[in-house]
Amino acid sequence: MSINSIASNYHQLLASIREQEHLYQRVTGSVKLLAVSKTHGPSMIREAWSAGARDFGENYVQEALAKIAELSAPQSSTPGIIWHFIGPIQSNKTRDIAAHFDWVHSVDRLKIIQRLQDQRPVELAPLNVCIQINLSNEDTKSGVDLQQARDLCAAVAHMDRLCLRGLMAIPAPCADHQLQRDAFRPLADLFREMQTLYPHMDTLSMGMSDDYAAAIAEGSTMIRIGTGIFGKREYAGEQS
Ligand SMILES: *Cc1c(COP(=O)(O)O)cnc(C)c1O
Repeated sequence: MSINSIASNYHQLLASIREQEHLYQRVTGSVKLLAVSKTHGPSMIREAWSAGARDFGENYVQEALAKIAELSAPQSSTPGIIWHFIGPIQSNKTRDIAAHFDWVHSVDRLKIIQRLQDQRPVELAPLNVCIQINLSNEDTKSGVDLQQARDLCAAVAHMDRLCLRGLMAIPAPCADHQLQRDAFRPLADLFREMQTLYPHMDTLSMGMSDDYAAAIAEGSTMIRIGTGIFGKREYAGEQS
Protein backbone atom coordinates (compact mmCIF):
# COMPACT_ATOMS: atom_id res chain seq x y z
CA MET A 1 0.00 0.00 0.00
CA SER A 2 1.48 3.33 -0.97
CA ILE A 3 2.19 6.00 1.56
CA ASN A 4 -0.41 8.43 0.27
CA SER A 5 -3.21 5.97 0.64
CA ILE A 6 -2.70 5.70 4.42
CA ALA A 7 -3.64 9.36 4.71
CA SER A 8 -6.57 9.00 2.34
CA ASN A 9 -7.77 5.82 4.08
CA TYR A 10 -7.59 7.64 7.39
CA HIS A 11 -9.55 10.67 6.17
CA GLN A 12 -12.15 8.47 4.47
CA LEU A 13 -12.61 6.53 7.68
CA LEU A 14 -13.08 9.70 9.70
CA ALA A 15 -15.73 10.82 7.20
CA SER A 16 -17.42 7.42 7.39
CA ILE A 17 -17.43 7.54 11.20
CA ARG A 18 -19.10 10.99 11.09
CA GLU A 19 -21.70 9.56 8.67
CA GLN A 20 -22.46 6.58 10.91
CA GLU A 21 -22.71 8.85 13.95
CA HIS A 22 -25.28 10.91 12.12
CA LEU A 23 -27.16 7.86 10.80
CA TYR A 24 -27.46 6.28 14.27
CA GLN A 25 -28.11 9.53 16.14
CA ARG A 26 -24.84 9.45 17.97
CA VAL A 27 -23.25 12.68 19.19
CA THR A 28 -20.83 14.04 16.58
CA GLY A 29 -17.28 13.19 17.63
CA SER A 30 -18.36 10.60 20.21
CA VAL A 31 -16.64 7.73 18.36
CA LYS A 32 -12.84 7.73 18.50
CA LEU A 33 -10.60 6.02 15.97
CA LEU A 34 -7.77 3.80 17.23
CA ALA A 35 -5.25 3.01 14.47
CA VAL A 36 -4.14 -0.62 14.91
CA SER A 37 -0.52 -0.62 13.78
CA LYS A 38 0.49 -4.20 14.64
CA THR A 39 2.93 -5.68 12.08
CA HIS A 40 3.42 -2.22 10.49
CA GLY A 41 6.69 -0.36 10.83
CA PRO A 42 7.45 3.16 12.10
CA SER A 43 7.30 4.75 8.65
CA MET A 44 3.65 3.71 8.22
CA ILE A 45 2.83 4.93 11.72
CA ARG A 46 4.46 8.26 10.83
CA GLU A 47 2.21 8.55 7.79
CA ALA A 48 -0.88 7.95 9.87
CA TRP A 49 0.42 10.44 12.44
CA SER A 50 0.85 13.06 9.69
CA ALA A 51 -2.77 12.46 8.67
CA GLY A 52 -3.81 13.22 12.26
CA ALA A 53 -3.83 9.85 14.04
CA ARG A 54 -2.58 9.98 17.63
CA ASP A 55 -3.96 6.77 19.19
CA PHE A 56 -2.21 3.58 18.07
CA GLY A 57 -3.00 -0.02 19.05
CA GLU A 58 -0.41 -2.81 19.31
CA ASN A 59 -0.83 -6.54 20.02
CA TYR A 60 2.70 -7.82 20.55
CA VAL A 61 4.80 -6.36 23.36
CA GLN A 62 8.27 -6.91 21.89
CA GLU A 63 7.28 -5.54 18.51
CA ALA A 64 5.60 -2.52 20.12
CA LEU A 65 8.51 -1.61 22.42
CA ALA A 66 10.84 -0.99 19.48
CA LYS A 67 8.29 1.28 17.80
CA ILE A 68 7.52 3.12 21.03
CA ALA A 69 11.23 3.69 21.65
CA GLU A 70 11.63 5.16 18.18
CA LEU A 71 8.41 7.16 17.86
CA SER A 72 7.97 8.41 21.43
CA ALA A 73 11.61 9.39 22.05
CA PRO A 74 12.03 13.05 23.11
CA GLN A 75 13.71 13.87 19.78
CA SER A 76 11.03 12.11 17.73
CA SER A 77 9.14 14.14 15.14
CA THR A 78 5.86 12.42 16.11
CA PRO A 79 4.96 13.87 19.51
CA GLY A 80 1.73 13.10 21.30
CA ILE A 81 1.25 9.42 20.44
CA ILE A 82 -1.02 7.52 22.85
CA TRP A 83 -0.17 3.80 22.90
CA HIS A 84 -2.89 1.21 23.48
CA PHE A 85 -2.10 -2.45 24.20
CA ILE A 86 -4.89 -4.58 22.70
CA GLY A 87 -3.40 -8.10 22.50
CA PRO A 88 -3.51 -11.11 24.83
CA ILE A 89 -1.55 -10.39 28.03
CA GLN A 90 1.06 -12.82 29.34
CA SER A 91 1.90 -12.17 32.97
CA ASN A 92 5.62 -11.90 32.24
CA LYS A 93 4.84 -8.91 29.96
CA THR A 94 2.88 -6.80 32.43
CA ARG A 95 5.94 -4.82 33.56
CA ASP A 96 6.62 -3.63 30.00
CA ILE A 97 2.94 -2.88 29.41
CA ALA A 98 2.69 -0.90 32.66
CA ALA A 99 5.84 1.08 31.86
CA HIS A 100 5.33 1.88 28.19
CA PHE A 101 1.62 2.00 27.36
CA ASP A 102 -1.08 4.54 28.18
CA TRP A 103 -4.00 2.14 27.79
CA VAL A 104 -4.62 -1.60 27.94
CA HIS A 105 -7.88 -2.94 26.45
CA SER A 106 -7.38 -6.67 27.03
CA VAL A 107 -7.41 -7.14 30.81
CA ASP A 108 -9.18 -10.39 31.67
CA ARG A 109 -7.94 -11.65 35.04
CA LEU A 110 -7.30 -10.54 38.58
CA LYS A 111 -3.64 -11.53 38.57
CA ILE A 112 -3.00 -9.18 35.65
CA ILE A 113 -4.87 -6.34 37.37
CA GLN A 114 -2.73 -6.74 40.50
CA ARG A 115 0.51 -6.87 38.53
CA LEU A 116 -0.34 -3.78 36.46
CA GLN A 117 -1.26 -1.93 39.67
CA ASP A 118 2.04 -2.91 41.32
CA GLN A 119 4.16 -2.23 38.24
CA ARG A 120 2.74 1.07 36.95
CA PRO A 121 5.61 3.56 37.48
CA VAL A 122 4.77 6.22 40.07
CA GLU A 123 5.84 9.07 37.80
CA LEU A 124 3.21 8.13 35.21
CA ALA A 125 -0.54 8.82 35.30
CA PRO A 126 -2.70 5.82 36.21
CA LEU A 127 -2.88 3.24 33.42
CA ASN A 128 -6.21 3.32 31.52
CA VAL A 129 -7.87 -0.09 31.61
CA CYS A 130 -10.67 -1.81 29.68
CA ILE A 131 -11.92 -5.27 30.63
CA GLN A 132 -12.11 -7.70 27.70
CA ILE A 133 -15.33 -9.67 27.44
CA ASN A 134 -15.58 -12.99 25.62
CA LEU A 135 -18.99 -12.85 23.98
CA SER A 136 -20.38 -16.36 23.58
CA ASN A 137 -19.90 -16.31 19.81
CA GLU A 138 -16.33 -15.13 20.03
CA ASP A 139 -13.54 -17.07 18.36
CA THR A 140 -10.78 -15.98 20.72
CA LYS A 141 -9.92 -17.54 24.05
CA SER A 142 -9.28 -14.12 25.61
CA GLY A 143 -11.87 -12.40 27.73
CA VAL A 144 -14.31 -13.13 30.53
CA ASP A 145 -18.06 -13.66 30.75
CA LEU A 146 -20.42 -10.87 31.79
CA GLN A 147 -20.51 -11.75 35.50
CA GLN A 148 -16.73 -12.06 35.75
CA ALA A 149 -16.48 -8.71 33.99
CA ARG A 150 -18.55 -7.08 36.76
CA ASP A 151 -16.12 -8.47 39.35
CA LEU A 152 -13.05 -7.33 37.41
CA CYS A 153 -14.50 -3.81 37.00
CA ALA A 154 -14.91 -3.65 40.77
CA ALA A 155 -11.32 -4.80 41.25
CA VAL A 156 -9.89 -2.21 38.85
CA ALA A 157 -11.99 0.55 40.44
CA HIS A 158 -10.16 -0.11 43.73
CA MET A 159 -6.67 0.28 42.25
CA ASP A 160 -5.08 3.73 42.56
CA ARG A 161 -2.53 3.12 39.77
CA LEU A 162 -5.23 2.03 37.32
CA CYS A 163 -8.12 4.00 35.84
CA LEU A 164 -11.19 1.96 34.85
CA ARG A 165 -12.19 3.30 31.42
CA GLY A 166 -14.37 0.66 29.83
CA LEU A 167 -15.09 -2.64 28.15
CA MET A 168 -13.73 -4.30 25.00
CA ALA A 169 -14.70 -7.30 22.87
CA ILE A 170 -13.83 -8.97 19.57
CA PRO A 171 -16.88 -10.82 18.23
CA ALA A 172 -16.35 -13.68 15.79
CA PRO A 173 -16.19 -12.44 12.19
CA CYS A 174 -19.63 -12.26 10.60
CA ALA A 175 -20.71 -10.54 7.39
CA ASP A 176 -24.31 -9.70 8.31
CA HIS A 177 -24.84 -6.21 9.73
CA GLN A 178 -27.86 -7.20 11.84
CA LEU A 179 -26.06 -10.23 13.33
CA GLN A 180 -23.04 -8.03 14.03
CA ARG A 181 -25.32 -5.66 15.94
CA ASP A 182 -26.83 -8.55 17.88
CA ALA A 183 -23.34 -9.68 18.90
CA PHE A 184 -22.36 -6.22 20.19
CA ARG A 185 -25.57 -5.57 22.13
CA PRO A 186 -24.84 -7.52 25.36
CA LEU A 187 -21.56 -5.66 25.68
CA ALA A 188 -23.29 -2.30 25.24
CA ASP A 189 -25.90 -3.29 27.84
CA LEU A 190 -23.20 -4.22 30.36
CA PHE A 191 -21.38 -0.96 29.60
CA ARG A 192 -24.47 1.10 30.48
CA GLU A 193 -24.97 -0.97 33.64
CA MET A 194 -21.33 -0.44 34.71
CA GLN A 195 -21.55 3.30 33.99
CA THR A 196 -24.23 3.61 36.66
CA LEU A 197 -21.71 2.20 39.18
CA TYR A 198 -18.58 3.87 37.78
CA PRO A 199 -19.69 7.14 36.17
CA HIS A 200 -16.20 7.94 34.83
CA MET A 201 -16.27 4.85 32.59
CA ASP A 202 -16.42 6.33 29.10
CA THR A 203 -15.03 3.76 26.65
CA LEU A 204 -16.81 1.02 24.79
CA SER A 205 -14.03 -0.44 22.65
CA MET A 206 -15.76 -2.40 19.90
CA GLY A 207 -15.73 -2.51 16.13
CA MET A 208 -12.98 -3.36 13.62
CA SER A 209 -12.54 -2.85 9.88
CA ASP A 210 -15.41 -5.17 8.91
CA ASP A 211 -17.98 -4.41 11.62
CA TYR A 212 -17.44 -0.85 12.80
CA ALA A 213 -20.73 0.48 11.42
CA ALA A 214 -22.67 -2.09 13.48
CA ALA A 215 -20.52 -1.24 16.50
CA ILE A 216 -21.28 2.48 16.15
CA ALA A 217 -24.98 1.67 15.80
CA GLU A 218 -24.78 -0.19 19.13
CA GLY A 219 -22.95 2.55 21.00
CA SER A 220 -19.22 2.00 20.47
CA THR A 221 -17.03 4.93 21.56
CA MET A 222 -13.77 3.58 20.14
CA ILE A 223 -13.32 1.55 16.99
CA ARG A 224 -10.03 -0.27 16.40
CA ILE A 225 -9.05 -0.24 12.74
CA GLY A 226 -5.99 -1.89 11.20
CA THR A 227 -6.69 -3.11 7.67
CA GLY A 228 -8.95 -0.15 6.84
CA ILE A 229 -6.07 2.29 7.45
CA PHE A 230 -2.86 0.40 6.70
CA GLY A 231 -4.08 -2.23 4.25
CA LYS A 232 -3.67 -5.98 4.58
CA ARG A 233 -1.13 -7.24 7.08
CA GLU A 234 1.76 -9.06 5.39
CA TYR A 235 2.52 -11.30 8.34
CA ALA A 236 0.81 -12.28 11.56
CA GLY A 237 3.45 -10.58 13.69
CA GLU A 238 5.77 -12.04 16.25
CA GLN A 239 4.09 -13.45 19.32
CA SER A 240 4.67 -11.45 22.50
C1 LIG B 1 -5.91 -6.70 14.67
C2 LIG B 1 -6.90 -6.15 15.63
C3 LIG B 1 -7.78 -5.13 15.25
C4 LIG B 1 -7.84 -4.53 13.85
O1 LIG B 1 -8.36 -5.46 12.97
P1 LIG B 1 -8.72 -5.03 11.43
O2 LIG B 1 -9.71 -6.05 11.02
O3 LIG B 1 -7.43 -5.11 10.69
O4 LIG B 1 -9.26 -3.67 11.47
C5 LIG B 1 -8.64 -4.62 16.22
N1 LIG B 1 -8.65 -5.10 17.47
C6 LIG B 1 -7.83 -6.09 17.87
C7 LIG B 1 -7.89 -6.57 19.28
C8 LIG B 1 -6.94 -6.66 16.96
O5 LIG B 1 -6.14 -7.65 17.37
